[in-house]
Amino acid sequence: MERVTTIAGIREAVGAAGRDGPRIALVPTMGALHEGHLSLVRRGAALADLTVVSVFVNPTQFGPDEDLEAYPRELGDDERRLAALGEAAPQLVFAPDVEEMYPREPVTRVHVGGLASVLCGASRPGHFDGVCTVVLKLLHIVDPHVAVFGRKDFQQLAVLRRMAADLDLPVEIVGAPIVREEDGVAMSSRNRYLDGDDRVAARALSRGLRRAVLTAREARGRGSGPAEPGALRSLVLATLEEEPAVRVDYVEVVDPDTLQAPDPPRGGEQAARRGGAGGGRRLLVAVAAHVGAARLIDNVVVGDTDDEERLLEATAARAT
Ligand code: AMP
Repeated sequence: MERVTTIAGIREAVGAAGRDGPRIALVPTMGALHEGHLSLVRRGAALADLTVVSVFVNPTQFGPDEDLEAYPRELGDDERRLAALGEAAPQLVFAPDVEEMYPREPVTRVHVGGLASVLCGASRPGHFDGVCTVVLKLLHIVDPHVAVFGRKDFQQLAVLRRMAADLDLPVEIVGAPIVREEDGVAMSSRNRYLDGDDRVAARALSRGLRRAVLTAREARGRGSGPAEPGALRSLVLATLEEEPAVRVDYVEVVDPDTLQAPDPPRGGEQAARRGGAGGGRRLLVAVAAHVGAARLIDNVVVGDTDDEERLLEATAARAT
């Protein structure tokens, strides 16, 4: 495993063989790596011959009142965690500093409309412009065949897929499942901002999603058609409100493809009652909330049986 800090250096390291050379996977991160990140690296290693993990706390995706300064930076520890992956360890860690990535104030920004303007895009103006711009830069620099992102940031994954499609980028965007702590809380570098009580309160996010899944399953089981988006939203909101330490940013139930309000079930009531291969209509239940100093996000796709199962299993230990 080699650390490279310059754009010229990483281009040389991956570019020597060109696109006919080894298959390259890129896993972009902001560091402070946890098991969620490591799962993406393993996925990258399974899909490619050479894996590059980038570690860069990207200032352009933080708002003025956000945690850019406080964001943990621990490259040495990150490299030790990556090396411990053994066979799946990346060959290259690309860790540029801000000067290297932004030697001048960038006046070029990538803006994805529609998808990027709702949910986190509405709460964090400019956030996805920053994400898309840095990811497009990384894709140009590393020129991977495949890039791996977590479904934890479901909207980010959707926005980046759309950017890649609209700009004809020659890269496959792969999404990987959310990895959770033992109590069901989605792993996040920001969880370390949480003290004991806030860390317990943070369980309300995954607990709300669990209740949404169980309710949707009950509705399907009764044959009464898919659960109403409004009912699922109220249920999650009520769960979050059980915890005074949780300040809700948003709870939305949307179409996972468009991130807009879902259409009524296709084919009318009857088809809805029959349910589809994935368990019926798919609805993204997405949550963002502030707990202590941390802004946390979480989601599940109701009607996606695999996603439902993963969430139920990961939250079973603390189910109430
Ligand atoms: P970040 O370092 O927070 O920018 O995240 C880098 C990548 O790791 C993104 O694609 C995230 O979606 C992904 N990621 C972060 N947390 C998790 C998690 N708990 N499970 C799966 N992927 C995650």
